[in-house]
Amino acid sequence: MKIIPYILIIVFGLFTGCNVNSYTFDENLAFQSLEKQAKWVHRYPGGEDAPICRQFLRESLEPYCDKYIEQDFTETVKGKELELKNIIGIINPKADKYIILASHYDNRPFSDKEKTIGLRQKPCPGANDGASSSALLLETAKVLKAKKPKVGVIIALFDGEDYGKDDDSMYIGSRYFAKHINDICEKKKVTFGILLDMIGDKDLNIFIEQISNKTAPKLVEKVWDCAKGLGYGDSFIPKVKYGIYDDHISLIEEGIDCIDIIDFDYKYWHTSHDTSDKCSPQSLKIVADVIIEFLYSDIE
Ligand SMILES: [Zn+2]
Repeated sequence: MKIIPYILIIVFGLFTGCNVNSYTFDENLAFQSLEKQAKWVHRYPGGEDAPICRQFLRESLEPYCDKYIEQDFTETVKGKELELKNIIGIINPKADKYIILASHYDNRPFSDKEKTIGLRQKPCPGANDGASSSALLLETAKVLKAKKPKVGVIIALFDGEDYGKDDDSMYIGSRYFAKHINDICEKKKVTFGILLDMIGDKDLNIFIEQISNKTAPKLVEKVWDCAKGLGYGDSFIPKVKYGIYDDHISLIEEGIDCIDIIDFDYKYWHTSHDTSDKCSPQSLKIVADVIIEFLYSDIE
């Protein structure tokens, strides 16, 4: 063993630009978080796992934010009164402008895309659809806490995205969030939002989503350029493919530009086979690297 002289550590630090306060995204920790959430297969609104999942999200997010908010509300869906909770963390709450990073955390209470009729009543574990993007954002909060971006960041974990089969029983949490945005921050200070959904697939192919491209083409271009610059052009494919109704529509309808980063080429979507083994830590890292790099860039 040899002790490196202190002066060499300082010089090395200067040349490498190393920052003692920095924390790099740990894809293995993020993946553990994904696995944990995916095991709570009844974490949908009203499900028996919802309280423990919400508690886990709180414990994972609150210590890494400057401000933590829970939005509790009830909604009657198909005659059933549901208690819902959006989980929100803010970094730099006094900033002049904000960016929203969002994901839904609930899973689907049934697996309606199953070929086998008998499996359709089982909940969709949502390892990719719900847990992957939530896990990514929880780990990203730690990075942002260690090295603050210039802008304010609102990390929003929505409830009730995947509850039902029609629009009234879906996107419930994001709709509430968007309508009550002034409870979180002044709406005019929100520059835009980035929604993440289904970003954990081992075979990551993120095409440009149609509505995102129509609403905020420059933002789309910047994010996909950022991915290319990091060498992730094979995963962030600069071609428009699907048009998807997702939580970003709730924000767009309230006048907030929002893009959806989603890999919709996923054959386990809304089946009981959407489990952790279909996802990978590396996919979480690719998307997180892009988001984090983008947040530290000069955002207009
Ligand atoms: Zn879904």
